[in-house]
Amino acid sequence: MISLYRPEQADQVFCISEKGRHLVTTSDGVSNKYCDEDADIAKYALSLSLWSTRRVGLCFSVCGVAPLLLSYLWLQLLRLSFVLVTVVHRGFRGSSFGTVEMAVHPPILPLHLIRLVVRPIDYVSLSISATLLQNTTMASEEPIIGKKRIVIVGGGVAGSFLAKTVQLDADVTLIDPKEYFEIPWANLRSIVEPSFAKRSLIRHTDYFKDGRVITSHASNITETGVLTTDGHLVPYDYLVIATGHANSAPKARTEKLQHYEAEHQKIKSADSILIIGGGPTGVELAGEIAVDFPEKRVTLVHRGSRLLEFVGTKASTKALDWLTAKKVEVILGQSVNLNSVSDENGIYRTSGGENIEADCHFVCAGQQIGSAWLKETILKDMLDMHGRLMVDENLRVKGWNNIFAIGDITDIQEIKQGYIATKHASVTARNLKLLMNEGKESKLEKYKTGLSGALVSLGRKEGLLELPFMTIIGCIPGYIKSGDMFVGKTRKEMGLESFPVENDESSGN
Ligand SMILES: Cc1cc2nc3c(=O)[nH]c(=O)nc-3n(C[C@H](O)[C@H](O)[C@H](O)COP(=O)(O)OP(=O)(O)OC[C@H]3O[C@@H](n4cnc5c(N)ncnc54)[C@H](O)[C@@H]3O)c2cc1C
Repeated sequence: MISLYRPEQADQVFCISEKGRHLVTTSDGVSNKYCDEDADIAKYALSLSLWSTRRVGLCFSVCGVAPLLLSYLWLQLLRLSFVLVTVVHRGFRGSSFGTVEMAVHPPILPLHLIRLVVRPIDYVSLSISATLLQNTTMASEEPIIGKKRIVIVGGGVAGSFLAKTVQLDADVTLIDPKEYFEIPWANLRSIVEPSFAKRSLIRHTDYFKDGRVITSHASNITETGVLTTDGHLVPYDYLVIATGHANSAPKARTEKLQHYEAEHQKIKSADSILIIGGGPTGVELAGEIAVDFPEKRVTLVHRGSRLLEFVGTKASTKALDWLTAKKVEVILGQSVNLNSVSDENGIYRTSGGENIEADCHFVCAGQQIGSAWLKETILKDMLDMHGRLMVDENLRVKGWNNIFAIGDITDIQEIKQGYIATKHASVTARNLKLLMNEGKESKLEKYKTGLSGALVSLGRKEGLLELPFMTIIGCIPGYIKSGDMFVGKTRKEMGLESFPVENDESSGN
């Protein structure tokens, strides 16, 4: 197949196959009827070229002997003109792009030289494009014959639970920049007790043994495939977006364990600590430090007028009173300029002009929704003003039959919590199974929001529980969450031992 891209028709790819001529569009879902996979490769080649060169005149993606010859014929014709040409030759057996060639016809070499001087960027960017294409590979393993392909983007709470649930029913690929699933609500305990993280950082391969993990960020999607930043092209029949929050955690689990050690040392060697942000992360961290290191002076600065703005005012007041009783100084309605923050001189200035002395600081604010990468994709119009994906009652992205979104990234009006993300995963697993078994659309399960609550830990023994009808603070909520931080429970839900066997690498130690 040969794909011909014209820069002036940015969203159109002409595919000329041995069986005739087809128009494929890169944006509205009309796909080549009998050469889907090659159409995908062509589209990726083209989108990469477009992204990196903008000015590439024409681009071919070829597969098979006859199209290859045909493409060279085209190439010869085109060499007579003053255009840059990229030829992408897909290996016949292998899955990687074999060669990338730039056409520079000797008779017009002087013209190219002039162009090289006038617009060197064309050539630089073309060579970047060529490198990218050469490094682009199809998903490494062959698809499982007879099984539908599900691609899950995001290995947080929602994505990991879904991957675990559907792994035996389909050919499942999980794309996540980390090689592990981290239980988010255990993170702050791991800062004061680094060994805690050995149980809460779970390798994806421990609970997801029947699927494929690609450790990379997803960077783009089309109607049939997901492109990752490390150059994988992953085709799908069903796609699930679960990129709740952007995450800058290290790729390797061992690095993350070291990170907790370093954070722990930071606290141990400090007399005074500043926490910036009074959401659940800031409040839980202040609680952990106040309980485990009561001798340290802790200051918490929060931009909002009350702590924990995702819960009601009663819960906010109770949290404030608890922290104050533990000698944490809480400053509300002020911010600390994150760009000028440094531990060097130990003085931090707030927006209200106050100076806070601290030996170190922790930023617990500004976690972004993980949807920035979607802004240039086919789903860009389905992002609401907050960057959340708009979903229908079946948790499918609005306007798409085979693309779902789950977890914190959805625009569903409900509290954003992990246990709710797992509910999304369960509903989606059932809907995927129904669709894969060619069940009726009318039988798809509808997701219903229910009564919800929030539970914030306050050190090792206490907590704050907000339910629709009451708010409790103290030992009872602490008993539910703060001892083990739901780690044993979560591990069991992932099909793992609550306590992994000592020194057993495969079980998460
Ligand atoms: C301090 C704290 C305490 C909490 N306590 C509780 C609690 O007690 N109970 C509870 O139910 N909930 C709790 N929550 C909320 C809960 O953690 C979230 O609701 C939950 O993590 C949402 O899950 P998710 O899968 O949607 O997103 P996340 O868990 O944020 O996962 C998103 C995943 O997507 C990945 N990702 C992002 N961008 C890309 C990309 N481009 N390509 C590939 N992967 C990508 C990320 O690396 C990450 O792995 C707490 C949250 C915090 C911060």
